Amino acid sequence: MAEPSPNIAGSDTRVSPSIGGIAVAEGRSAELEALRLLEDAFGAFDRIAVSFSGAEDVVLVDLGARILGSDLPVFSLDTGRLHPQTHRFMETVRDHYGVAIETLAPDPDELVDLVRDKGLFSFYRDGHGECCAIRKIEPLGRKLRELDAWITGQRADQSVTREGLPTSQDDLAFSSADHPVKKFNPLANWSGRDVWDYIRRREIPYNPLHDQGYRSIGCEPCTRPVGPHQHEREGRWWWENVADKECGLHAQNVAEPLRIIDR
Ligand code: SF4
Repeated sequence: MAEPSPNIAGSDTRVSPSIGGIAVAEGRSAELEALRLLEDAFGAFDRIAVSFSGAEDVVLVDLGARILGSDLPVFSLDTGRLHPQTHRFMETVRDHYGVAIETLAPDPDELVDLVRDKGLFSFYRDGHGECCAIRKIEPLGRKLRELDAWITGQRADQSVTREGLPTSQDDLAFSSADHPVKKFNPLANWSGRDVWDYIRRREIPYNPLHDQGYRSIGCEPCTRPVGPHQHEREGRWWWENVADKECGLHAQNVAEPLRIIDR
């Protein structure tokens, strides 16, 4: 395991070396809890990685890098429909932390079939499920067959589908009988304000789209800015019901858990 980064205290001046030599600002219990969970997860699983979407879950990368430094394993789903700003931001994060980010692309044959048969915007007519299945779920399932655990930036306050989200859980969607997969959600109990307090306090990079009114950032055609009194998820798949706003990455958040890995 790599030595922790020497820059672990960020811009904080009052620190308490209370977790394995990693400095944590006083009074930051959520941060401490997340660091402890990550440290335990990294200790328990060799085949584990952070899922980074190019949005505010850069906090996960920052927390993870405080423990593993540039050895932090990170992957991202490049759906082919991300904003150019998100691609550039991924590069910024790669440079800032010195981490490798593995980008996962959709299966080209499935993509060719979808676009040939239904065009580039079928999700507006048919719902986002089919396109997300090809551009996100299949690549993620492929990656999770190599891993025993993954780490997400999900928060309970993001959506009605995420209420009661635990900080660790068996991944019912991507586990199979002979290959259980664990999912860790270190930010489950963080609010959006906690995330932004952390980003500002530690002066870490963030996707510039956030300064243009985007709060929850996904693919360009399925993401739009929200107003000051709108919930962040109102900017995602706005033409669909709120209870349908999971893309299958976290299928067990909806009422009937879905086994995806054997599809
Ligand atoms: S978010 Fe939209 S463009 Fe991206 S994979 Fe899902 S349906 Fe397709």
